[in-house]
Amino acid sequence: MKKNMIAGNWKMNMLRHEARELTQNIISGVAKVKHDLDILLAPPFTSLDVVRGLIEGTKVKLSAQNVFWEDRGAFTGEISPAMLIDAGCEWAIIGHSERRGILGETDSIVRKKIKASLNDGLNVIVCVGETLEEREQGKTIKIVQSQVESALMDLELEDYSKFVIAYEPVWAIGTGKNATPEEAEHVHATIREITGNIFGQDSDLIRIIYGGSVKVDNIKELLAMDNIDGALIGGAGLNAESFVKIVKIAGE
Ligand code: PEP
Repeated sequence: MKKNMIAGNWKMNMLRHEARELTQNIISGVAKVKHDLDILLAPPFTSLDVVRGLIEGTKVKLSAQNVFWEDRGAFTGEISPAMLIDAGCEWAIIGHSERRGILGETDSIVRKKIKASLNDGLNVIVCVGETLEEREQGKTIKIVQSQVESALMDLELEDYSKFVIAYEPVWAIGTGKNATPEEAEHVHATIREITGNIFGQDSDLIRIIYGGSVKVDNIKELLAMDNIDGALIGGAGLNAESFVKIVKIAGE
């Protein structure tokens, strides 16, 4: 059974005491959600232990926002999949557009991170999405297709539930503009076709989640689409009330 996923990406926000307060409020808010959802929090590395301590025994799971592809060694500033698992993470976000755009992360780096994470038992959320310029040039499908095909190249997936694709149009991230449910669905359906062509019908179990200015006001319409299996949430996830409302709507 495929569960919807709601993941809060806190980006470079939240000091440890703020992370504690936000997590406590989220946990108490989502405690009564009965529907079986994957609820993830992705705090900065410095707050992983704070969040880990609080979510123990709850339905909330821990994700990292990034990961490196080697296990250990001379890679100053980097953190390996094994280290993240050791810190309590079940998931890692890979290839977020801020890392691709600001830090120069390429498709081949993204692929290395995916392989290393899955090999070590860390589940992945792989982000793809076009820039505004690419959209205006009518290149959305071409760009997303090449990012997805690159991410899936030579990949053997044993458990499709451990691999999530987040379609995040770059122009919709943190801008207040979001793709309409129909626009998002068109891209999600294309991604579904690509995964189906590569892995066969069972790969329907791969969740394809949407990200880009998801809020309380638009989550319901997005999740009503056939191929939208959840949301990756930035800004609205920094506020416990709105994150909890989104989770509750997703769980209806
Ligand atoms: C994100 O960080 O992945 C994101 C979608 O941000 P926002 O919800 O703020 O657009």
